[in-house]
Amino acid sequence: MSKKTNMTILQGFEWYLPEDGNHWNLLAEKAKELHKMGITGIWLPPAYKGTGGIHDVGYGVYDMYDIGEFNQKGSIATKYGTKEEYLHAIKALQAAQIKVYADIVFNHRMGADDLEEVSACLDAGDNRNNQISDAHPILAWTKYTFPGRGGIYSDFTWNSSHFDGVDWDDREKRNGVFLFEGKNWESDVDKELGNYDYLMGADLDMTNQEVIDELDRWGKWYLEQTNIDGFRLDAVKHISFRFYLHWLTKLRKESGKELFSVAEYWNPEAAPLCEYLDASGHVTNLFDVPLHFNFYKASSSGGNFDMRTISSGTLIDSRPDYAVTFVDNHDTQPGQALESFIQTWFKPLAYAFILLRNTGIPCIFYGDLYGIPHDNIQPVKGLPELIKARNICAYGTQTDYFDHENVIGWTRSGSSAMPNSGMAVIMSDGASGNKYMCVGAEHAGETFVDLLGNHQEPIVLNEAGCGDFKVNGGSVSVYVPIAAYSQIIK
Ligand code: CA
Ligand code: CA
Repeated sequence: MSKKTNMTILQGFEWYLPEDGNHWNLLAEKAKELHKMGITGIWLPPAYKGTGGIHDVGYGVYDMYDIGEFNQKGSIATKYGTKEEYLHAIKALQAAQIKVYADIVFNHRMGADDLEEVSACLDAGDNRNNQISDAHPILAWTKYTFPGRGGIYSDFTWNSSHFDGVDWDDREKRNGVFLFEGKNWESDVDKELGNYDYLMGADLDMTNQEVIDELDRWGKWYLEQTNIDGFRLDAVKHISFRFYLHWLTKLRKESGKELFSVAEYWNPEAAPLCEYLDASGHVTNLFDVPLHFNFYKASSSGGNFDMRTISSGTLIDSRPDYAVTFVDNHDTQPGQALESFIQTWFKPLAYAFILLRNTGIPCIFYGDLYGIPHDNIQPVKGLPELIKARNICAYGTQTDYFDHENVIGWTRSGSSAMPNSGMAVIMSDGASGNKYMCVGAEHAGETFVDLLGNHQEPIVLNEAGCGDFKVNGGSVSVYVPIAAYSQIIK
């Protein structure tokens, strides 16, 4: 996989978008504005009908052939709109030169149409390798017949043989992790809880050839229907590590498309992520979850974080060519399952870090760009400007000045192909400070100004192309050539 330093992805949703079926239309309307800002790709939320119908964010996946077309789970449209509106949004975004990435949820199914009697053992909740009951009959929601779709596009129906287990026995009205008799949890999954194959719903059995064939057929169908450019893969730590090597390789080969991919492997350590990359044949990029947690620690340490270690133990440090960097997402926002929201004061520092350095593909959170009205959270100040600065200025050699526990900085030398490029970034998690940094001799005598306006005073570089750059306490300043400043602030 080649390096894609000029890509900037937008996660095109947050958890609490209005349930008005209007999001696809809204994104279609924003397409040109996003392109102008410098967004090159957008990750759209799961587009298929979930068990919660119009209320489902998309991860409670029920029928993957229903992308807002059939009257199932109480509505035709999904939370985001109808199939027609989805396809229109994809076309509008692609027409604005934005690649569109679909969210793929293959770990589980939810909201089955019927019960089946299945023999199952109860697992210890904290150790899934430990069965604490003998096999006994339970009533499981595992029969998916999709009566509302009536066999259109696919006559495949699901039954208990396609799943490994569920978390509800409808006979005893009892919660628990139930492993079906004759089944094993996948062995190549995350090791948390002994074995983390099971997450929720009816868990797909990725060793069943009928399941693999069906997911292959669906992938081909989905690509033909939507003309999508790539994928965001949900919850891969709960899915056999070999599965996506098969699925993506086959789909790429058959379609002849590159099909960019980024997967969610939620773990604060880099080691399991590297293990996944190796086991899955580097078939996908991964979100840099450890970097998110470094930002979280730094933002919550009241200035006592050692900024020199901001990228320690991250994917951009160990596997930079496969890292998709992010600050927050729909799971880390307030009220959500993996809540670890970066504090407001630190957001511009974190975004400067992922947008203006030469490693990782940055992914901007919709809730940071547009705010989260549900929780009264405002858009991150200066974020559109930082995205523009990435495209106009963040080129050339990177020189790091990670030499102080509070104040760190770096410069980009710029590129002759980009006339207003080059920059100097300085940030502090503690007191205000300054740092002598060199952009490059070719910039001698040029005037640089802080794009974010945190420091009003222009800085004229000396004959060596260096200057003494200043930053306020708990802040970031991004100094760019004055011509770039006028280009960005319009
Ligand atoms: Ca699983
Ligand atoms: Ca499974």
